Amino acid sequence: MAGKLILVPTPIGNLGDISPRAAETLAAADFIAAEDTRVTGKLLNHLGIRKSMVIYHRHNADTAGPAVLRRLEAGETCALVTDAGTPAISDPGEDLVALCAAAGIPVESIPGPCALTVALSVSGLPTARFVFEGFLPTNKKNRRSRLAALAAEERTIVLYEAPHKLQDTLEDLKETMGADRRIAVCRELSKLHEEVWRGTLDGASRQWPEPRGEYVLVLDGKAPEEAEPDEDGAMERLRQLREEGHSLKEASAMAAEQFGLRKRDLYQRALEEL
Ligand code: SAM
Repeated sequence: MAGKLILVPTPIGNLGDISPRAAETLAAADFIAAEDTRVTGKLLNHLGIRKSMVIYHRHNADTAGPAVLRRLEAGETCALVTDAGTPAISDPGEDLVALCAAAGIPVESIPGPCALTVALSVSGLPTARFVFEGFLPTNKKNRRSRLAALAAEERTIVLYEAPHKLQDTLEDLKETMGADRRIAVCRELSKLHEEVWRGTLDGASRQWPEPRGEYVLVLDGKAPEEAEPDEDGAMERLRQLREEGHSLKEASAMAAEQFGLRKRDLYQRALEEL
């Protein structure tokens, strides 16, 4: 019988955030696939777990992925971890999940720490609809076209950024989306120097002359365009209401309310045109 792949989220800054279920899964797995065995080794030491590990990261995924898959097909259980957070979210793992899914190997994901959800939930910006963009492309052309596409985005936007690129990214965002766009800069979440700065892109680009640590940027979406009130539609409705027997006053009031217009203005236009 085939084994399974289990994605195990690890803390993004506070070791206390490893869940009992995540720890049990690491202890029970046949082996762990880790992005960096030194980082995961520290976590395992903290948990008192000894377990064999294989390396699975972006640069060896082509060979390490099929090797992990073979062991899963032979019936073993693999816990996949990355350096921090939820595997496969802007992290190695996405391809391994796809490989397993295509081969019919069961995949489970244990809920747990993820910088994206921590930042979004604490941002103070609308959370009902959002887009996660991960890291912006480093290639200039791709970056420009991604930013241009994001300029029209009305949903809240979540980005990951490395400290040495933060300034440039904030400047690019300001240029594309305007200085007044609201942003929450979430830094070092769940760590000693945790900080959530809320303001505009203008303020943010001046706030960190020497950025340090890890950052998630949460940006307000573009304000929806105000639709022009449909005066002709309101007049059409008013005519219908008149034909149904309503007085001009009643019809104006009803149509104005329906189309978000001022009663008096519509009444005046009706007096002139009907
Ligand atoms: N898979 C991870 C997750 O679930 O969040 C993300 C991995 S991605 C390679 C690393 C990026 O996540 C960092 O560059 C930063 O943008 C963000 N990040 C991770 N930990 C963070 C923290 N404690 N505070 C703020 N951002 C963090």
